[in-house]
Order: sequence, then structure tokens, then C-alpha cells
Amino acid sequence: MIRISKRAANIAASATLAVSAKAKQMKAEGIDVVSFGAGEPDFDTPGFIKDAAKEGLDKGLTKYTAASGAPELKKAIAEKLRRQNGLDYEPSQVVISCGGKHALYGAFQVLVEPGDEVLLPSPYWVSYREQIKLAGGKVVELRGQEENDFKLKPEQIVQAINERSKVLVLNSPSNPGGFAYTPDELKAIAKAVVDEDIIVFSDEIYENLVYGGQKFVSFATLANGLIEKTVTFNSLSKTYAMTGWRLGYAAGPQEIISAMGRLQSHETSNPVTFCMYAAIAALQGDQSCVGQMRDEFAKRGQHMWQRLNAIKGISCIKPVGAFYCFPNVSDCYEKLGVNDSVAFADAVLDKINVALVPGIAFGWDTHVRLCFATSTEQIDKGLDRLEKLLS
Ligand code: PMP
Ligand code: GLU
Repeated sequence: MIRISKRAANIAASATLAVSAKAKQMKAEGIDVVSFGAGEPDFDTPGFIKDAAKEGLDKGLTKYTAASGAPELKKAIAEKLRRQNGLDYEPSQVVISCGGKHALYGAFQVLVEPGDEVLLPSPYWVSYREQIKLAGGKVVELRGQEENDFKLKPEQIVQAINERSKVLVLNSPSNPGGFAYTPDELKAIAKAVVDEDIIVFSDEIYENLVYGGQKFVSFATLANGLIEKTVTFNSLSKTYAMTGWRLGYAAGPQEIISAMGRLQSHETSNPVTFCMYAAIAALQGDQSCVGQMRDEFAKRGQHMWQRLNAIKGISCIKPVGAFYCFPNVSDCYEKLGVNDSVAFADAVLDKINVALVPGIAFGWDTHVRLCFATSTEQIDKGLDRLEKLLS
């Protein structure tokens, strides 16, 4: 009789990855599936980045480097953070991980003690909750209001802080909400928390994906002293269409970053060496690919949002960041004879072969998430089917 540890048994598999795996499997079986599942750009990684990886292979960059990442890439990341984000970190204050997901995992592991509270704005990205649980932390969900585009007011955050609070997670632009705090809104939060005894995790992985005049600012720049209590997370995945390369990073206070490096020395040894050299090319090369992809996502997001709101029973806030629509579909449950977001997503996949992620994975059982990082033709095909099903 095999007994899985309680720690692992309590962990749910990632719903976002599960939905896309199922859609891929159905496609392999010849079914014409439209997938709005996992959040990843449909674009190929830009050629100059691939070339740098090939060059790295040819140069023999195929050996171990350093557990916390190659020094040359740390330097390039510190320069990027200074140049683009106004954040002043030494290269030693950067840890490179196998994806932003891995960086977040490590940060929760090195900071959170059993029983510590982590304030998690909701809707939240699916993996935060499980990662907090794996560290023994207690999730304190701070639910946003849909009328306010799911955004929290500073008072709501401050009221939830007590002596057990360890970390506040911020993710703007948001997965799954598709909202982004304005600089002023974020500044108000910064002002409210800067004197609190709490570490802020600012997940800025969608920093380049903001639309319609929305502006991005890095949280740690917004109040004096905030940089000493903020860990900034980012990744190559979304900005450069590099989800499969598994490269992300965190920058923050030296004690936290060093501890994450020690942890990684027993976990992963180092992120893939020749990929790290390609990442230097990505960060230092011509950035026009980033804007081109963003402009395309902006059009698709607007189109998906308009079409969703035209479907009977569906209402959706306008996405101004990331690449997700997060509509409320609960008024359609009766029509499909379902009671929750999992049954809704199952019914949609079964009946019309459209894959979407149930909102319960993000804390909202009245909603579903659709990723619009796919072609307009696919968006129209999927939404034509959904419109017909729900009419
Ligand atoms: N944070 C957020 C908010 C995400 O949506 C994701 C998923 N891509 C990640 C972190 C992790 O991405 P990756 O591990 O590919 O860098
Ligand atoms: N973050 C993406 C998503 O939410 C990719 C899948 C994952 O890492 O969970 O779909």
C-alpha cells in the first residue's frame, strides 16, 4: 500500500495545465477543439533569441553554471530592471529560476512558516494557493469586487494585516482577471503597506501586456523603502513567447534571494545553461517583437471581450492587461443544467469542443477564464459555437 505524503496529497493539480493537456489530447485524437485554456502566447519565440540559443549550444554552453543562475544573465536582468522598471538591484539580488512559477515557489518556501498568513487578492492565479499551502502557510483570501474590476482598495488590505501576516501577493496585470491597477491605485496601496511588517510579492510577469492607454509601474518604486520589503517576480515566458524555455526570476532583499539560491542548489542545480544565454539576447536585443505581440493581443482581447458581452447571460469586465477575459457565466448555468464552473466548462468542452478554465481554480465559481493569446479565427470559431450553445 503506497501512502503519498499529506503534503502532496493535499495539492490539487494545476487546472490551467490540466485544461490545456485535455484540449491537446482531444486535438491529437482528431477532434476540432478550440482552446482558450492555458495562458501562453501562440507566437513562436523570436528568431534572434533562438539563434542565440543555437549559438550557445555550438559554443559548448552545455554544462552546469550556478544554482542561482548564470552571473552574466543576472547582470543583464539587473540592468533591465534599472533601465525599464526604475528598480535598483545588484546582480547578487537576482535569482534566476526555471520559470516565474519556480521563483514564486522558492520565495514562499524560504519565507513562510507553518501558520503564517499570506494575503491573496482574489481572483488569484491558480498556483499561488497551492504554493502557499505547500509552504504550510494559511491563505487569507481578499476578494475583489467585480464592480470595481476585482481591484482591492488599500483599506481592505490593511484591515487584513495582523501579527501573523507574512506576505501580500500582488499581481498586476492580473491573471485571471485581466485588470491592471493604475499607477495611482497602486501608489495608494504602496503608501498603505510601506510601514506594515509584511513582505510584498509583486508578480510583474505581464508587465508588457497592457492595453488601451493603461500604464505599468513596478510596485517597489512607489514608496520610499518599499524596495527593502518587496520581491519583484518576472519571467521571459509571456513577454518573449518563451513559455517552454522555463526561465523566470526574482529580485529582492539579499537575505531572501540568497536563501532562494540555496534552496535551488538542492532542487534544480541551475536553469538550462544555453537558454540563459538566449535570455541575455532577449533582454538586450531589439524589443520591437514585444510591442508587435502586444498590439496583436490588444486587438484580440478587445474582440473577444465585445463578442462575450454580446452573448446572452454573459458579462465580462474589459481586459486592460495580461491576455485573459474572465466573464461571469453564472446566468447561463440553468440553460446548461449545471451548478458550478467546473460543470459548465465540462459541458462546453463536451458539447462544442471549446476548452476554457473553470473560475473556481481562481476562487470564483461563477466565472470562467478564456485566454485570448490565440488567433482571431480561433476566437471567432470558439465564440460562434458558444453563442449558439447559449442562445
Ligand atoms: N505568474 C502568473 C500570474 C502567471 O500567470 C504565470 C503563468 N504563466 C506565472 C507566474 C508563471 O509563468 P512561468 O513559470 O512560465 O514564468
Ligand atoms: N500561467 C499560465 C496560465 O495561467 C500557464 C499555465 C500555468 O503555468 O499554470 O494558464
